Amino acid sequence: MSQPVLIVEDEVKLANLLRDYLLADGYEVEWLTRGDEVLPWLEKNNARLILLDLMLPGTDGLTVCRDVRKDSDVPIIMLTARVEEIDRLLGLELGADDYVCKPYSPREVCARVKTVLKRVETVPLEEGTDKIQLDDNKMEVRAGGVAVALSAVEFRMLAAMSRRPGWVFSRDKLMSTMYTDKRIISERTIDSHIKKLRKKLDDLPLDENPIRSIYGVGYKFV
Ligand code: CA
Repeated sequence: MSQPVLIVEDEVKLANLLRDYLLADGYEVEWLTRGDEVLPWLEKNNARLILLDLMLPGTDGLTVCRDVRKDSDVPIIMLTARVEEIDRLLGLELGADDYVCKPYSPREVCARVKTVLKRVETVPLEEGTDKIQLDDNKMEVRAGGVAVALSAVEFRMLAAMSRRPGWVFSRDKLMSTMYTDKRIISERTIDSHIKKLRKKLDDLPLDENPIRSIYGVGYKFV
C-alpha cells in the first residue's frame, strides 16, 4: 500500500543505480525520464516523494517543481549540478524540500530521502492547540498526553487533511490519499473511514473534533 518514490532522471545509469539503492532500502520506486511526463503521471498516481533532476528533456526540473507545487505538497528533492540554483530551489519560490548536488552517491540520496520523509510525515497539526501531533512510526495521533492508534488508512487521511487546514477534501481526493492503486471504492467506504477516524479523535482532549463534514462536498480539517 505504500506509495512509490518517483525518480525523474534522464541519465539511465544514474537512475538505475538510484532505483537499486532505494529498492534495497525498502521503498517502492517509479522512474520517469522526461520532465513533461511528471504532471500526467501525478494525475493518475501518488508519489511519496519525488527525486527531481534539474536538467531534463521536455520540461526542466525547475518548471516541473513549480508546477507540481501548485496543487501538491509531495516532498521534492532536487538533484542538481548547478550550485548557483540552490538558494532558489529551497526558497519559497519553488518549494523544493531539499537538494543533493551532482555528482552524488546513491547512499547520500537515500539518506536524504529518509530525512525528508521523516520530517514531512511526522506532522505537527496546526489546530489552535500545538499539542496535537501525528506520529507515523507508531501510526498514532497524540494530544494532551493522550495517544490514539489509527489504522493506516485513517492515518493517511488525517495526515493529508491536516497538512492543508481549511481545504475541503472531496471523497475522490481522500480516496487517492488512502490508496495508491486507485481501486474503486464506494463513497460510503470513505464515509465509514472518516466516521471511525472522527470517533477516535473524540477520545483526544480537544475542544472540538477537528474534522468537519461539508455537506455534498467532502470533509475538511479545521
Ligand atoms: Ca539530466
